[in-house]
Amino acid sequence: MPGEFDLIRKYFSGHDGSSRVELGIGDDCALLKLRRDESLAITTDTLNEGIHFFKDTDPYLLGYRSLLVNLSDLAAMGADPMAFTLSLSLPEATDSFLKPFAKGLFELADEEGCALIGGNTSKGPLSITISAYGVSCADTLRRSGAKSGDGIYVTGSLGLCALYVEAGYGRLKVDKSLLSSLCYKSMHQPCRCAFAKELCDLEYSRCAIDISDGIVGDLGHILECSNVGADLWLDKLPLADELHSLIKEEQKRLELAAFGGCDYELLFTLPSETEDDVMDLCEEHDVPVTKVGIITSSQELRLFNHGKIVRPAAKPFEHF
Ligand code: ADP
Ligand code: MG
Repeated sequence: MPGEFDLIRKYFSGHDGSSRVELGIGDDCALLKLRRDESLAITTDTLNEGIHFFKDTDPYLLGYRSLLVNLSDLAAMGADPMAFTLSLSLPEATDSFLKPFAKGLFELADEEGCALIGGNTSKGPLSITISAYGVSCADTLRRSGAKSGDGIYVTGSLGLCALYVEAGYGRLKVDKSLLSSLCYKSMHQPCRCAFAKELCDLEYSRCAIDISDGIVGDLGHILECSNVGADLWLDKLPLADELHSLIKEEQKRLELAAFGGCDYELLFTLPSETEDDVMDLCEEHDVPVTKVGIITSSQELRLFNHGKIVRPAAKPFEHF
């Protein structure tokens, strides 16, 4: 059976050419050319019950999260969110689900100035699909923009969502109130669009991806698209505080932070000499940023822990 990315390559790639398509399948958003020097950035993501979230998850968090995962892809291209559509499949149309769902959805939409312009509603197993549209300048951040010698940077912290999933499946014992606090914090992440847009305006910043499948897997996409290698320093990863307080073994902590999915933080690369400008930007936006490695010309991804090469047993997340 093909993996998720092989499946897309085998059955769905190769039909994205047209004079209006500036960038087709393979990045966080597709880009359609508009007039002058602007493009329309488009992305879509689905959240399915039992796959992307546990049954009986707070609908308010689902509303927020279903838009956030899409805005995270717009951020990865440095695009400014404009509008979105919502396709909702629901087993039952109850006020007790729809009211908090809409509250969470519009909390983020209004904050980001992103308008709901259409969608589709039907009966069925709970599934939420959003397509989001943003405007980007001609020179977007792309997975293909990394250069040998660039530093690798990541916003926020990693591993909280993976930790919540461990707890949700009962592989980590926590009480009910801690479980619900992990759920809230891991699903109500900050949106990085405003920061990413300004990052994109810096002329030397050309490469980013959002971390949806774990930093190792997503950095791998950058390396493949940019035709470069990287050294990733696991001991420098910004681990969520809860990983330190709840997981005793260092190896397990690193595994969750490096391979666990759905952090929805931004990974970007920059020439090292420009680091100071970006750190000013981070302070302005109150976005914590950590340097976690370096792009190399070696064509391979090497993982280091305290200066020593490591070969972890875990693998990047794929749906199949
Ligand atoms: P992301 O995690 O940023 O949403 P993915 O890694 O899931 O992106 O997908 C990689 C690329 O494959 C993206 O450009 C996405 O739009 C594209 N893609 C995913 N599924 C399909 C599909 N069924 N048909 C066409 N393109 C797809
Ligand atoms: Mg993405």
